[in-house]
Amino acid sequence: MLRRLQTGLGEKSTYDAVSQCSRCGYCEQACPTYVATGEEGLSPRGRNQALRLLLEGKLADPKSAAKFLDTCLLCGACSTACYAHVRVPDLVLEGRRLLRGGGAPATARLLTWLLMEKPRLFETLLRVAYALKRLGLSRLVARLGLLDLLGMPGLAVAEEHLETVPDGLLAHELRDRSELADTKGARWLYFAPCGPNFVLPNVGRATVAVLESKGKTAFLNNGCCGLLAYNYGEVEDAREMARRTISRAEAAGEGTIVADCSSCAAHLKGYPQLFLEQPDWKARADAFSKRVRDAAEIIEPGPVKREEKATYHDSCRAKHGQGISAAPREAVKGCCREFVELPESDACCGGAGAFAFTQPELSDEVLRRKISNIASTGAKVVATSSTSCLLQLAHGLAQYYPECRVAHVSELAWEGLANRRNGC
Ligand code: SF4
Ligand code: SF4
Repeated sequence: MLRRLQTGLGEKSTYDAVSQCSRCGYCEQACPTYVATGEEGLSPRGRNQALRLLLEGKLADPKSAAKFLDTCLLCGACSTACYAHVRVPDLVLEGRRLLRGGGAPATARLLTWLLMEKPRLFETLLRVAYALKRLGLSRLVARLGLLDLLGMPGLAVAEEHLETVPDGLLAHELRDRSELADTKGARWLYFAPCGPNFVLPNVGRATVAVLESKGKTAFLNNGCCGLLAYNYGEVEDAREMARRTISRAEAAGEGTIVADCSSCAAHLKGYPQLFLEQPDWKARADAFSKRVRDAAEIIEPGPVKREEKATYHDSCRAKHGQGISAAPREAVKGCCREFVELPESDACCGGAGAFAFTQPELSDEVLRRKISNIASTGAKVVATSSTSCLLQLAHGLAQYYPECRVAHVSELAWEGLANRRNGC
């Protein structure tokens, strides 16, 4: 448990933080799970109420709160809509930890252990799974439960949603590039989030290429940011991963740290919350978080415009987690000849990590609304900025609107750079 949270009114205990909810209901229509179901318990207000009763010991069956807490997408749309900025996602995570008694599921603990202590073994197992899939043995991978065994069913879902598997792991490739090894004097330090590293290496390649076009770039050669451990309730492991990342960044100089998954970028910026009771580390986390940028906020419009009609989906952790929305829109507008605003662009797509696996029906309902909005624009490409959205939208577009593709903002900018080099 964190016990104390950073809120719009300063540091508060979990109980005081949830008590900031006045139950006005102003946030209800911003909540995708409430809009999809109309159930009060699946609204921000209902979740706050469930947590409050849980903390007060007033629920006859405490486990009954799980339905309300486990169905939250952690998208943060409610916090943006709420005049008091009640931090519902953080409260929901605290509630989940409370219900689990602090422990994460065994698979999540295994993943955390592999990422922290045996990253090379994890990478090898992942490469075996991908090699089997390339050989057309996807069913064998599924039957062996290899990706589930790696600790996260969400990774298995992610792999299922991929038509082609990565040709290699991004970190291996970046480590082999000697020009990216020298962090001294680098303007940009690329932080490879797990998504681009393990599943979508083209996103990382694009971001690094765009950063290199803007100044000296180096690879931070980082481990996991700790978000998975944090979300699964392993707060001590999340702290340890944060300490390692902070120490690595301090040793790498003073460059700006850029991550190209909005979920990870938001978590990196949120490190100070992990150390509210450890002043030394809190000060280091504060200094670290000021150096972090989401790739979506620094990509600039390229001079080469694509013919495709484009639109932009706000990743929850970019818009609601970091307040980033104008910069990536401008970048996409600058990359494409025609830009159409997406209706309900900041509504969650239903990806949200392993949500598509744990709540498949609710996730699909939220996804279909998102794809229908994309189809209404007639766009041929939809840009976004987090791994979860990229995978979920790719899956939804393939099913319901295959005329459109999804791309990370960095990828569109990279394509523009490549076209310029080729004289297009
Ligand atoms: S979370 Fe905010 S907007 Fe929603 S009911 Fe509570 S106080 Fe009102
Ligand atoms: S975080 Fe998203 S899904 Fe959860 S209560 Fe808030 S708006 Fe609803």
